[in-house]
Amino acid sequence: LGGSISRALQQMSNATIIDEKVLNDCLNEITRALLQADVQFKLVRDMQTNIKKIVNLDDLAAGHNKRKIIQQAIFNELCKMLDPGKPSFTPKKGKTSVIMFVGLQGSGKTTTCTKYAYYHQKKGWKPALVCADTFRAGAFDQLKQNATKAKIPFYGSYTESDPVSIAVEGVERFKRENCDLIIVDTSGRHKQEAALFEEMRQVSEATKPDLVIFVMDSSIGQAAFDQAQAFKQSVAVGAVIVTKMDGHAKGGGALSAVAATKSPVIFIGTGEHMDEFEVFDVKPFVSRLLGMGDWSGFMDKIHEVVPMEQQPELLQKLSEGNFTLRIMYEQFQNILKMGPIGQVFSMLPGFSQELMPKGQEKESQAKIKRYMTMMDSMTNEELDSSNPKLMNESRIMRIARGCGRPVRDVMEMLEEYKRLAKIWSKMKGLKIPKKGEMSAL
Ligand code: GDP
Ligand code: MG
Repeated sequence: LGGSISRALQQMSNATIIDEKVLNDCLNEITRALLQADVQFKLVRDMQTNIKKIVNLDDLAAGHNKRKIIQQAIFNELCKMLDPGKPSFTPKKGKTSVIMFVGLQGSGKTTTCTKYAYYHQKKGWKPALVCADTFRAGAFDQLKQNATKAKIPFYGSYTESDPVSIAVEGVERFKRENCDLIIVDTSGRHKQEAALFEEMRQVSEATKPDLVIFVMDSSIGQAAFDQAQAFKQSVAVGAVIVTKMDGHAKGGGALSAVAATKSPVIFIGTGEHMDEFEVFDVKPFVSRLLGMGDWSGFMDKIHEVVPMEQQPELLQKLSEGNFTLRIMYEQFQNILKMGPIGQVFSMLPGFSQELMPKGQEKESQAKIKRYMTMMDSMTNEELDSSNPKLMNESRIMRIARGCGRPVRDVMEMLEEYKRLAKIWSKMKGLKIPKKGEMSAL
C-alpha cells in the first residue's frame, strides 16, 4: 500500500533524525486544518504550546512512526480541550427537571428543543415544551408545529408578550402535570444585544432551570467564543449543543464554547429532522476537526469491500483528489457487487445520503445501473477526464442517443458526478493511513 500514503507522510516516516523542524511542520499543517475548522486562534496556539511540552523530541527520534506520535498527541490534546472536567447536570427520568435553551436567533434552538424532547420521549420520558420566545413572529407556531408532530405537550401564547410570565406559567402547568422534562425555548436576536441577555437572565431567574443549554450553530466560526461567553455571563450555561453538523462547517467553535462556558458539549444536530440528533462523541468529532473524517471506519470499509488488487490504486486516487467518471463507474460496480448496504461510499459524508438514502436501496440500485448504462455510451476520453467543461451539449446528445435515454437523464447523471467529485476533492492531500495504522486514533 506504499503508494497510498501521501508523500509528506512517507518523507516523515523515512526521516532518520526527527528534529524540531519536523515537529513544527507537522504542527503548522495541523494548525491550518484547525483554523479552517473554526477553532479559535488562541486555542490553537495554546494547543501548540502544550504539544511542544508533551512531545519529547528524543522519544520521537526513537519512535517508529513520528507523525503518528505527534498526531496522537494533538488528538489527545484536542479531546482534553473538549472536556471541561465535570459532567453537565443530567436530568433523571421521573423527577422533574427544567431545561432552558439559549442561543442567537437562527442557531437552531427551537428545532433542538424538539429534538431533545423527542430523544427523551423515545426513552420513556414525559417531556413538555414551553415557548418563551415572544420576539420572533411565528415562534409559537413553529414550536407548536414541531411539538404536535412529535406528540409532545406544549405551552405558549399568541397574546401575552412577556416571555417571563409565559415561561413561568408553562413550567408551573407542566409541573402540575408531572412532566419530568420541562423544556423552555427562548428567543434570540440576530446580534448579541443587552436586551436579549437581560431577558435570558429574567427568564432564568423566574423558572430556576436545572440546566441551561447553549445552542450554537457549527458555522459561526471565530465568533463562537465571544458569543458563548456573553451568554455565560448572563445565565448559568451548563451544557452546549452544536447544530448543523450536517453542513460544511466542522464545528471547531465547539472548543471555544466549551472553553467559554466551562461546560461540555452534550449533543450535536445533524439535520433539520427531529431524529437527526446524536449524543456528542468526542473522538469522531476531533477526527473531523483534523480533517480525518471517520477514517478508521472508512478504511476498514475499503479493505472489506474493494477487491484487494484495486485498493492501492483507489487510495492513490483518493489522495490525488481527481474524480473521473471512470472512478465513479468503478465504484458503482463495487457498490452493486457487494449489495446496497454499508458500502464504501456510505462511510463518506454526503456520498450516501443522497445517492443511497436509507430504506430506498432498491431504487438506488436501479438508479446506479441506469447511470452505468449511460456511462457505457461514453468515450474513454470522457471517462478519464476530470475537466467538467468537456461534457458539452453535443457530447451529451450523443450519449443520450447512444444509451436510448432522454438528455435530461444524462444531465442528471452528470450532476450527480459533479456532486460526488466535489466531495471527493475534499479528500485531496489527506493522509490516508494504511490498514491498522489508525487504530490508535
Ligand atoms: P432558533 O431561531 O434558534 O430557534 O432556530 P431554529 O430552530 O428556528 O432553526 C433555524 C434554522 O436552522 C431552521 O431552518 C432549522 O431547520 C435549521 N436547523 C436547526 N438545526 C439544524 C441542523 O442540525 N441541521 C440543519 N441542516 N439545519 C438545522
Ligand atoms: Mg426559535
